[in-house]
Amino acid sequence: MAAATLGEVPTKAFDTILTLDFGSQYTHLITRRLRELNILSEMLPCTTKIADLDYKPKGVILSGGPYSVYEDGAPHVDPAVFELGVPILGICYGMQEIAWRASPENVIAGVHREYGHSNLKALKGDDAHVDRLFDGLEDSMRVWMSHGDKLGALPEGFHTVAVSDNSEYAAIAHKTKPIYGLQFHPEVTHSQNGTQLLKNFAVGICECAQNWTMARFLDQEIARIRDLVGPEGQVLGAVSGGVDSTVAAKLMKEAIGDRFWAVLVNNGVMRLDECEQVERDLKQHLGINLTVIDASKDFLDGLKGLHDPEQKRKFIGGKFIDVFEAEAAKIEEAAEKSGKGTKIGFFLQGTLYPDVIESLSFKGPSATIKTHHNVGGLPERMTNGQGLQLIEPLRSLYKDEVRELGRTLGIHEELVMRHPFPGPGIAVRILGEVTEEKVRIARQADHIFISEIRKAGLYDQISQAYAAVDPSRAVGVMGDKRVYGYIIILRAVTTTDFMTAEAFNFPWEFLQRVMNRIVNEVNGVCRVTYDITSKPPGTIELE
Ligand code: GLN
Repeated sequence: MAAATLGEVPTKAFDTILTLDFGSQYTHLITRRLRELNILSEMLPCTTKIADLDYKPKGVILSGGPYSVYEDGAPHVDPAVFELGVPILGICYGMQEIAWRASPENVIAGVHREYGHSNLKALKGDDAHVDRLFDGLEDSMRVWMSHGDKLGALPEGFHTVAVSDNSEYAAIAHKTKPIYGLQFHPEVTHSQNGTQLLKNFAVGICECAQNWTMARFLDQEIARIRDLVGPEGQVLGAVSGGVDSTVAAKLMKEAIGDRFWAVLVNNGVMRLDECEQVERDLKQHLGINLTVIDASKDFLDGLKGLHDPEQKRKFIGGKFIDVFEAEAAKIEEAAEKSGKGTKIGFFLQGTLYPDVIESLSFKGPSATIKTHHNVGGLPERMTNGQGLQLIEPLRSLYKDEVRELGRTLGIHEELVMRHPFPGPGIAVRILGEVTEEKVRIARQADHIFISEIRKAGLYDQISQAYAAVDPSRAVGVMGDKRVYGYIIILRAVTTTDFMTAEAFNFPWEFLQRVMNRIVNEVNGVCRVTYDITSKPPGTIELE
């Protein structure tokens, strides 16, 4: 059992399964399932050169993919993967790739495509090899398939270890080497016991230690940061009060104490009392060395006269960089004089694993690899412009792992479970021009909506919720008098990946209660609507 070696990147410190991505929409599920089993899995494009890896995986999984292995331009794995001497599991395209490598005639276009459920029968027997793969599983199980091609013949040295209604090669295994192929997808939840099968591969066959936990990751990451930064080095970072930047900041605090300098910019479009709240959370509760810059007036002045959403976003993004850069110079001076360490040499960025995967993912036979785009351009300016080195402690973690890490760091549950909030704040929740009056209205209405959601115990069931201001006004009657007020648009969605979303199904009484409070408590509002648009076609934010 490999113990985590302190001071190293996760793939070196933890037993890792390398998942090579052939472009399947399910590839990320393979890494997810393995991580749920406390095994680190890293996903890299199928074109990765094995010689470029800086660690040795305990096993390799070849994912599914949309191509046909025999077509011109179809992606193929670096043959060196078979020389690594570690177990290999091919899933769908991955299995076809293994067979095709042995001989291209082994893979043919099937007459019957197979999509959806299929019944699998494992040919268990006296072969220890097969039994390890199907350990603890019934002989027959429902699996999920999605393929048009199939094996026409077994690659040399392999035998069939499972059949399905439609595939005589539903699972294959090499007779002597730990190489396996599955025609079905164990990573999707529709495959019964699929996770157990992946576990059998990763734990039973590859002998991975199941020690990928956030507590261990934390120890190891603290050691790595200390190594990287050195005993004197200082680090600068922007925080927003959101989950990612807060977890990253607390991690830095644990690693290097006050040699980490966090900066919060009040851009005037934060939520009601949010700036004060974030300051309390980060400074008092988490003990982070935080500087708050109140630039709200500058932002609100600059937003005057801007109606176009893109212009608003651009202005806020650009202004943020200017304000941050100007303050960074002062902080760097303060840091240098503080006697806490040498001058600032690093910039903290809360990049998460999905962004990393997105920038690396295999996009087509030409393998277009996009360089990582950082939101807002701030890291770009700090690293290139100011010559700081980038630190990204969360870059191997999924969002729910970041939340778990936050809990491990003692960050309170309410903060850990916070909904995402856009960088340009409520400026994109006020349609058209942002004025101080509309900011006040948006803040008050949002505060009522969110507090009622919390009171009703619905907050964690919703992925994102807010109140927006529609500046076109409507006529109403209040106290027998004609009023002419703004319209509030409530929005609440559920989603797993923020790529698609549905409006949350609130009880009618709940919406009535929120409407009632908003029209009564927020001056200048006479109507409340609930936006039921799904994404697509709607986006989650309004602008
Ligand atoms: N494109 C291949 C087929 O249709 C592989 C599909 C897959 O990996 N899901 O058989």
